[in-house]
Amino acid sequence: MTASPVLGNLFIIAAPSGAGKSSLIRALLEKHPDQSMQVSVSSTTRAPRPGEVQGVHYHFLSTEEFEQRIDAGEFYEWARVFGNYYGTSRKAVESLLAEGKDVFLDIDWQGAQQVREHHPEVRSVFIVPPSLEILEERLRVRGQDSDEVIAERMAKAQAEMSHYHEFDYLLVNDDFNNSLASLEHIVLAQRQKMPHQQIRYSSVLKELLG
Ligand code: GDP
Ligand code: ADP
Ligand code: 5GP
Repeated sequence: MTASPVLGNLFIIAAPSGAGKSSLIRALLEKHPDQSMQVSVSSTTRAPRPGEVQGVHYHFLSTEEFEQRIDAGEFYEWARVFGNYYGTSRKAVESLLAEGKDVFLDIDWQGAQQVREHHPEVRSVFIVPPSLEILEERLRVRGQDSDEVIAERMAKAQAEMSHYHEFDYLLVNDDFNNSLASLEHIVLAQRQKMPHQQIRYSSVLKELLG
């Protein structure tokens, strides 16, 4: 079967910190080792956590460098979250989509609003925890943030969650494997949408229809 090149699909995954979005994205990518799904590596001015690797988890930049890149128009979207800058590189996202990859943006609601303006076909998923108590427990179990940072993230969680209705899909991340299956269904269903399939299988359709 001949397949023509087709632009990849863009997905936004947002959630209050600790709801499980990074773990779900990582598990989905591991389940699809063909590299057809990729996560965009954001830039940030926050300090690396123990074990975070430059260029893998984030591109860690100084505030000065980040501001220069904003001025140079290098960000597809950027926002201030928890007092730091976070942003998505325009070039990186565009080149992954041009290679036909499905691309995940792990970004906050402010970034999501900007992306919907540039790219109305984006599909956005909001993930919430089953309760505030469980959210706090997950932040503690992750063991990567100080008590002060956890308190700050808990204090901002409700403001972040108040934007849930702006998204196309809502996942309540109670059982991890159920959430993973739901996320996978959303992504795989999007791959079968008409304009993409029409391009991907143009020669098959031509043969079938004469
Ligand atoms: P986590 O949510 O606990 O994994 O914490 P992070 O430090 O990874 O992310 C902090 C916040 O920044 C979250 O709300 C993210 O969604 C947001 N964020 C991360 N990357 C980006 C980005 O490229 N653009 C925007 N706008 N927000 C981002
Ligand atoms: P986020 O990227 O949204 O900040 P993480 O993916 O880092 O969140 O998850 C926060 C913590 O909660 C991690 O220790 C992760 O292993 C755990 N976790 C994620 N989803 C679940 C779940 N459904 N049940 C129990 N623990 C979970
Ligand atoms: P953390 O500091 O825990 O890695 O991330 C905190 C929050 O920043 C998360 O909710 C995450 O989604 C958001 N975030 C991370 N990267 C970006 C980004 O590039 N753009 C935006 N807008 N938000 C981001």
